[in-house]
Amino acid sequence: MQHLPALPCYPCPHQSACCAYGSTLSDDEAKAVIAAHGAEKVYRTRWGEWRTRVRKGRCVFLVNNSCSIYNQPYYPAVCRGFPFVDAETGGPYEFDRTICPEFERRPELLQVNRFPGR
Ligand code: SF4
Repeated sequence: MQHLPALPCYPCPHQSACCAYGSTLSDDEAKAVIAAHGAEKVYRTRWGEWRTRVRKGRCVFLVNNSCSIYNQPYYPAVCRGFPFVDAETGGPYEFDRTICPEFERRPELLQVNRFPGR
């Protein structure tokens, strides 16, 4: 895999825009999150996908512009990989990376670890 550039995530100058939609969780991550934080922090979509809840436009685990579960073993793999690596395949991130405003500021980032055909 090519070198992945650092982003200014900690602290994020974009009010953690990438946390606006919450995150997908694996079954194991959801189980661990529920055990540690309670079932009300997550929900299951009608397609059976676990997701973290969103309050006031940000993931419930974002506290003071910082992820409060970043250092936990159940920190979602989706968050760990974003915006360059897809958590499921280990390949390039397949979805919209421009929810991170840094990609508009530095369009060359779109060329990094691109998903083929995008
Ligand atoms: S990925 Fe982008 S929006 Fe998300 S924390 Fe990092 S710099 Fe901020």
